[in-house]
Amino acid sequence: MENKKKYVVEYDRPNCIGAGACTAASPKFWKMNYDRDGKADLIGGNEKEDTTAVIEISEEDFEEMKASAEICPVNVIRIKKKENNEKII
Ligand code: SF4
Repeated sequence: MENKKKYVVEYDRPNCIGAGACTAASPKFWKMNYDRDGKADLIGGNEKEDTTAVIEISEEDFEEMKASAEICPVNVIRIKKKENNEKII
């Protein structure tokens, strides 16, 4: 089957301020980690503290992820095209 993961999402977790907007925009990908430090975790990504988490997403999830990236007040959610590393947000 063709690999349909067209985008790479990088989440700069250390600089998340715990505003929670991403979880409202995209509960599929984000959850708040109130047990640890009150920052958001990228579901399916590397959830260790103080690292950048990375996942790949498909076209069908792009708009939802883009909405969470746009609403983040500190711009720690970034999306690139996988094929050429072109920065989208
Ligand atoms: S919107 Fe941005 S700052 Fe707020 S919890 Fe999500 S990633 Fe962190």
